[in-house]
Amino acid sequence: MIGAAGHVPAACLLEDVALSSWPAPSPIAVTLRGICPRCGRGKLFRGLLTVVERCPECGLDLRAHDAGDGPAVFVILGLGAIMMMLVFWVEFRFEPPWWLHILLWVPFAVVAAVWLLRLLKAFLINQQYIHRSTSLEE
Ligand SMILES: [Zn+2]
Repeated sequence: MIGAAGHVPAACLLEDVALSSWPAPSPIAVTLRGICPRCGRGKLFRGLLTVVERCPECGLDLRAHDAGDGPAVFVILGLGAIMMMLVFWVEFRFEPPWWLHILLWVPFAVVAAVWLLRLLKAFLINQQYIHRSTSLEE
């Protein structure tokens, strides 16, 4: 945050002081528990997949660290590839009727997609918070 002339803006100094006063939770804890990347106490999600606008504990503006469509792309490609391998394995190994595929794979896809989306959203929000890829001042 040091400019070309060596000048450090006052806002950056204040931000660093504010950030250092919070015990940083581990990225694994943030990802698995869905907690605030700054304070580690506030919940990251309201409901299943909606990211809260601000941390209820420390007030961190989480809109500035929005992961966008990134988690969905990873889940679609990764889960889709893994599921198709499992579907073909079950089909060729056990040859079940078509309706059993529906009963097996639709609930699996929904649960796995929501679980992976939560994990990836929390992971990417934490990475954006750590590396400050977005400006907090906007
Ligand atoms: Zn917080």
